[in-house]
Amino acid sequence: MFDRVHVKCPACSEEIEFQSKAGPCHLTDFGLDNAPLEVLADIKGNKEAQTCKCGARVRVVVSFRAWPELVGHGNDGVDRVEGREEE
Ligand SMILES: [Zn+2]
Repeated sequence: MFDRVHVKCPACSEEIEFQSKAGPCHLTDFGLDNAPLEVLADIKGNKEAQTCKCGARVRVVVSFRAWPELVGHGNDGVDRVEGREEE
């Protein structure tokens, strides 16, 4: 069994199906936004590229992103994050 990841073709917006044998493999349908990391790792790259109905070759690219996020300001913000605001 395998899991399926449904990807929109960047050329024609048709749906392309990538199959992964990594991860839970319960014939689960994923999108790129909710597929587990091990599933994404299994379908990424040139070797796993699929051909769309329109003829385009499409590969999945996985990139790691890190960014700063504002969670508050000063001690007030820190307290809120730690959940110690009621004292
Ligand atoms: Zn296409």
